[in-house]
Amino acid sequence: MTTGYFKALQEAVVASSVSKNWGTAVLEWTVVDLEEDPAGQGMCVCHHPNLVEMFTIENVYNGNQLYPIGNVCVRKFGRQDLTSEANLFSQIHNLRSAINAGEDTFPKHFSRALLKYLNDEGVFTPDQWDHDGGYEFLVKMFNKRNKDEINSRRWWKIHKLLEKKIFPFILGDG
Ligand SMILES: [Zn+2]
Repeated sequence: MTTGYFKALQEAVVASSVSKNWGTAVLEWTVVDLEEDPAGQGMCVCHHPNLVEMFTIENVYNGNQLYPIGNVCVRKFGRQDLTSEANLFSQIHNLRSAINAGEDTFPKHFSRALLKYLNDEGVFTPDQWDHDGGYEFLVKMFNKRNKDEINSRRWWKIHKLLEKKIFPFILGDG
């Protein structure tokens, strides 16, 4: 059964790619968006039903988009960088949902990759809320195996960085 889905995926991707060869066509794509259907009623371009995560991928050469693509099919491109992009979209989506639901977010909804992404996006530029290395501080707190080591003063600083820097960025981003 997976063979049929995989063949359908290959056909859809190659049809929208510059290269007419699956092996090189997979190199042309990047992840640009993620929507979620909690009811799981999305259907992948490979015809696989019951998608919750529905990615949009875009061809960087001709601008074609394919939607929706499930996370299983993103992995079938066989590219670690594309899989990482998709994972990042998932993490941002999950973090946004947790913020909107008023749940605890740190460290549960964070990862080293997500923190690095936020830093790359300029979230930790120095200001009144972050004048002494918020990124490095959060990575250090995230890396603590025993979160009980995080004292109340550190938690206060974590929450300030979340509420003043990270949450506005995540909620305003998409
Ligand atoms: Zn699929």
